[in-house]
Amino acid sequence: MKKVVKFGGSSLADAKQFMKVGEIIRSDDARVYVVPSAPGKRYDGDIKVTDLLYECYELAVAGKNFYEPFLAVKDRYNEIIQGLSLNFSLAEAFDVIEDKLLHEPEKDYTASRGEYLNGLIMANFLGYEFIDAAEVIFFDENGNFDDDKTYSILGPRLEECSCAVIPGFYGSSSDGKIKTFSRGGSDITGSIVARACKAGVYENWTDVSGLLMADPHIVSNPAVMRNITYRELRELAYMGASVMHEDAIFPVKKAGIPINIRNTNKPEDAGTWIVENTARRSKYTITGIAGRKNFCSIIIAKDLMHSQADFYRKVVQCFEENNIPLEHLPSGIDTMTVIVHENKFIEHEQEVLSRIAKIVEPESLEVESGISLIAVVGRSMKSQTGTAAKIFRALADARINVRMIDQGASELNIIVGVLNEDFERAIRSIYHIFVEVAE
Ligand code: ASP
Repeated sequence: MKKVVKFGGSSLADAKQFMKVGEIIRSDDARVYVVPSAPGKRYDGDIKVTDLLYECYELAVAGKNFYEPFLAVKDRYNEIIQGLSLNFSLAEAFDVIEDKLLHEPEKDYTASRGEYLNGLIMANFLGYEFIDAAEVIFFDENGNFDDDKTYSILGPRLEECSCAVIPGFYGSSSDGKIKTFSRGGSDITGSIVARACKAGVYENWTDVSGLLMADPHIVSNPAVMRNITYRELRELAYMGASVMHEDAIFPVKKAGIPINIRNTNKPEDAGTWIVENTARRSKYTITGIAGRKNFCSIIIAKDLMHSQADFYRKVVQCFEENNIPLEHLPSGIDTMTVIVHENKFIEHEQEVLSRIAKIVEPESLEVESGISLIAVVGRSMKSQTGTAAKIFRALADARINVRMIDQGASELNIIVGVLNEDFERAIRSIYHIFVEVAE
């Protein structure tokens, strides 16, 4: 079985971190394809190499002197090379980048050099072959990832070499220029490489021992999730949980390859397994909690609205015309509520409200803002009684008023709406009742 291992910026921030990574890779022969990020922060307040490179580009394109950040970039790599005692120099590669910045600065090209240079060091350090991502990862004319072209070239290329380093974050666009994914995109490269070589597992190494059940800024020391399905992860990520890059899930999900999130600083920890399906129960009824603030609800009331077959469609159309995505549609007998993001709605608020008033002639139309949505997610919830009761008990005990409830038919999640000011307290009380009380 082959493993693809992706290391994030903090795992490769300096020579000491590189050594830990080297040990991790050498401790398992299956770890044959390595996807590095650019060096990240070494300490609080440090600057990531990618950010330094964006700064170089901004200065260069404005015709200003970019040597200060450029020197900082060079120093970062030279320190790593020296710290690893490698007999290797990036001097020529630096010259090429400098020349490009001086004569034809390109944003994506400049940013991508963080991963490119780190990949060259990593390949030298491990004695693995270096495969430039520009030769194996492609984007189409619309700037979207071109999976057909990529897999037809990347798959056979990987078969040719038993061990290789493929830098994360970038590929080639249809006009042959370098193009990057969005920030954090090395996660996507790792997933693509895993799919292309039909890996047994995609290991994503970072600086935490897995995904946390709740936001650590809200709940102190939240438990780590041991197993989570792709669908649960999507729900949590959509509701604001910070996990890997959103798009990193799709390539491996399609191929049924599990993702294992691991901690470079604590390789002995099992981390979190993200899988398509699992018979493993999570330790608690719920898998995780996540939430987002600043939604608004538009409450439309009209007697006998249900007898008009086109009522919902007409209301939805008013939002569609203004390009406002709908988050939820909880409804009553003669009321319908539409929940949308405040920042997407406010700009077109009056257009939407006057359209609704005109085309469905409601008896009342109310708008409420400052709503937070909290998703309580868990595959085990549907087989257990009393889950919803527990959530509402927790909220009632904390004297938090519930403004909306939505339980999808899949019973994978229960979403509750509360006022923004109750958001953090609500998450803490739900976490407490399911995790701390259950322990
Ligand atoms: N280095 C890039 C960034 O900082 C990509 C990545 O780390 O995944 O966003």
